[in-house]
Formats: sequence, C-alpha cells, structure tokens
Amino acid sequence: MPELPELQALCEALTDEVSGRRVESAVAVHPAVLRTAEPPLTALEGAALTAVNRRGKLLLVQSDRGVSLVVHLMSAGRMGLRDVERARGRQTLLRLELEDGRALALRELGTKRRASAHLLDDEALGEHPPLARLGPEPIGLEADEWRRALEHPRARLHTALRDGRRVAGIGRCYASEIMWAARLAPFTMTTGLSDDGWTRLASAADAVLGQAVARAREIGGVDMPQREKRTTAVHGHAGEPCLRCGAELARVSFAEYELVYCPDCQNDGRRYADRRFSRLTR
Ligand SMILES: [Zn+2]
Repeated sequence: MPELPELQALCEALTDEVSGRRVESAVAVHPAVLRTAEPPLTALEGAALTAVNRRGKLLLVQSDRGVSLVVHLMSAGRMGLRDVERARGRQTLLRLELEDGRALALRELGTKRRASAHLLDDEALGEHPPLARLGPEPIGLEADEWRRALEHPRARLHTALRDGRRVAGIGRCYASEIMWAARLAPFTMTTGLSDDGWTRLASAADAVLGQAVARAREIGGVDMPQREKRTTAVHGHAGEPCLRCGAELARVSFAEYELVYCPDCQNDGRRYADRRFSRLTR
C-alpha cells in the first residue's frame, strides 16, 4: 500500500510532467468510482492541469478551471501517467487523456472496488470531509505536537500512528519503521509515553520518512508499481536479525498483514503472541 513517501515523490514527478497540459477527454470507465455528480467529470475537458498534490494519502489533481479531482487510492488503487493505449487497460477505473498522447489514469489491482474519486470545486474542496478530517503532516512535527496528535483518545501506538485523523500519511510499513527507529513498543498505550518517548518518536519519524522520500525521489517515475520499491529495516523482515542489536525480529499476524518489531530494542525483550487478534488491537 502506498504511503506518504512514495506518494510525495509521485506527485512531484507527475506535477513536472502534467502541469500546463490540457485534458482532451475525461472518462470514468467504472462510473461508480466517481462519487460526485456535480460538477460532471467533463468539466475537466479543455482544462489545463496545474499540479498533482498530496495531502495524507489523498491525491489532488488540480486544474485551471477551479475544479480538482481528489483520489483516494485505498490499498490497491494506483495512479500514473501512461501512454493512452496502456491507460485504456482493463484495470483502469478513470482516466484523463491529455493533449500529448498520454493519460493520467487511476487503476485498481484485484477485484475489490475500493478506490474512489471526487471532483470538487474550490469551495467544496475546502470542506471535503476526508481532507478536512486529516491530522497534521508528520514530517517536521515537534514532540509536543506528536503528543497532541496521538495521545488522546487513548490507543495503542501502532494503531494511532496509522490513523490519518491523528497524523496524516502513515500506514503499516512506515508505522513499523518509525516505532523501530524510535525503540518504542508497538502496543504501548499512547497515554503511557514519556517525554523522552515523544522526542524519540518525533526524530524517528523525521529520519525514517525523510530518507524514504529521498529514496522514492531517486527511484522516480510517473507511474506506480504493483509493489512499492522500499528499503526497510523491519517491515517484511520477520525472522531476520535486527539491524541494531542482532536479535530475531518478531511478528504479530493480522488478517491482511503482519506487524514486525524487535522484542529486544522495542519491548524489553518481551515477545507478543504471534497470532491474529486484530479485533483487540485495531
Ligand atoms: Zn533490536
């Protein structure tokens, strides 16, 4: 699932490529992907795109007509700029065909249709609940801002970090990476973190996300791959030695993913039960 770093790099690359380009046709191949009726998608036809921006994990395709397309990728949605023929592929849900023979396309892997798009004028954009509800962006937050964002209502750290209403843009992968870098236990309660814990969280988030953004920019590209190309310390590395202390990284399995952590560095040597108990820990 794409998270802040990959989406940030994608938006920068897309903005370079599409700004100033006119939209020749705007098509919702799967009409249900578009969750708004007014303005119609054809309002983008003839418009010049001005930028593709990101807020949290939402993408905002902006135009010079005062309308923006807000795209929610969910877990399997992918956005990218492709030759128009490729953009007419089976997985495409919505595409904006540009004057230069390419198209900005939203596609979705698999068969579940969860990705969505909203076409909004500037006023509606300011009030769009998925945007208005988002917490602050995590890079550059101070320790006390982290505390304000995550402490209440009381939750497990692992859960709170991935709640976009508390702090935007972090998902399963970078939550695990940040907690490992900060030496914080995934299931510690947010009300129980010390001042030092919040300070470590703030600097770990800056380091982990900053490096990941830099790496995603290096990889570059104007289309999203099936799977993100990432360099991770713990995510996806259960059973391997911890890069910091050498202890074996442990996992907790959930229905759709696993959480990986170092029992020694993060949890005083204690291992959590390796089982699916997502209902208790969501
Ligand atoms: Zn360790």
